Amino acid sequence: MEDDARAHAEKAHPGDSDGNVSAPTSSSPTITTAAPAAASNPSAPTQPQQRPGHELPFVAPSSYLRPKPISRTMSDYKTSGPLDKEQMQGLRGVREFLKVRTSYDVLPLSFRLVVLDNDLLIKKSLNILIQNGIVSAPLWDSRKSSFAGLLTSTDFINVIQYYCQFPDEIGNIDQFRLSSLRDIERAIGVEPLETVSVHPMRPLYEACRRMLKTRARRIPLVDVDGETGREMVVSVITQYRILKFIAVNNEQHTMLLKKPVRDLGLGTYTNLATATMGSSVLDVIHLMVKYNISAVPILDQDNTVLNLFEAVDVIPCIKGGAYDELSATVAEAMSRRSEDFGGIYTCNEDDRLDSIFDTIRKSRVHRLVVVDDDNRLKGIISLSDILKYVLLYGEEDDDIRSG
Ligand code: AMP
Repeated sequence: MEDDARAHAEKAHPGDSDGNVSAPTSSSPTITTAAPAAASNPSAPTQPQQRPGHELPFVAPSSYLRPKPISRTMSDYKTSGPLDKEQMQGLRGVREFLKVRTSYDVLPLSFRLVVLDNDLLIKKSLNILIQNGIVSAPLWDSRKSSFAGLLTSTDFINVIQYYCQFPDEIGNIDQFRLSSLRDIERAIGVEPLETVSVHPMRPLYEACRRMLKTRARRIPLVDVDGETGREMVVSVITQYRILKFIAVNNEQHTMLLKKPVRDLGLGTYTNLATATMGSSVLDVIHLMVKYNISAVPILDQDNTVLNLFEAVDVIPCIKGGAYDELSATVAEAMSRRSEDFGGIYTCNEDDRLDSIFDTIRKSRVHRLVVVDDDNRLKGIISLSDILKYVLLYGEEDDDIRSG
């Protein structure tokens, strides 16, 4: 089993680091990117700037694949034409694929996993994430010898909210340990995230369903040691890794997904949370909390998309415990992005899901900003929107509720 599984993993993305994997990437696609925002001058970058090797400000899925838009609504979907049948055949194929693959199959041949002890100071954990170039890590309770949850940028956002609600506590924040994160959640009144995990040998479909049910963007793979009976954290898989795994290994089905995102209603198009280059990091964090989202498009006065502020951008902002520096602008914060920042991906409402899978196959995409031909904001497609559509579209409601 393992050889087969590992062969698939290797085919998928041998060194595709997503927080806990250190192997180098096997190929470096030439991608275009929005340049990091210029520091301390929010009004300056009215257009994203070019960087060496990056000719265009944005990356669009294969625009040559765009068919003429056909105006259809979701309710028209069941009146099946050939395109609908093919689309449904593609979705069924991907679902079957996810049922016969395990979460273990998604893992690369070799990887590094950083697990943090729950007793570690939050401040230190932040430095460890930054030093290792990762954005999340599983937590370990060494007293109980058990898995204790996942540290993500949401936890740091919670600490920031705690600081905002209890400014007198700033002196104590440095003393907080990872084990106090649940107390912080309680103090600021946020619903604690369910600590979900999945066994690595269970079908990948199960991990996907569990992620959708809990709205988790990543899920730890936890096994039990046969000798000691103790839990072992094997790795963490993300929505991105799963979609990449599908894109690389199941192209015969993703190529059938030829309906444009406009027809699928894929993503969010109303009530979008946006900000400007001059917005403070703290204001954008409040938006992310209010909308329960992980990214906010940054627009100019004409609604042109200049950049995208992501929850992971918060991590460098509070390096060294500088919680009081969150009044900096998002332009300043984005200028701290590392040189290997992957860029902002865009698509058009006429782009098809097969071309989006092509983009995922080639590049490290975490979400797509939907723009019109003038780069004005239309909507946003998160990986969770794609995963949800791929897994659940056309399924009976009862099946969905039973998870
Ligand atoms: P995410 O946090 O990226 O997993 O997205 C969760 C849900 O929120 C998805 O359905 C997205 O389409 C939607 N979403 C993402 N970003 C925004 C935004 N800036 N404004 C409104 N909705 C969003």
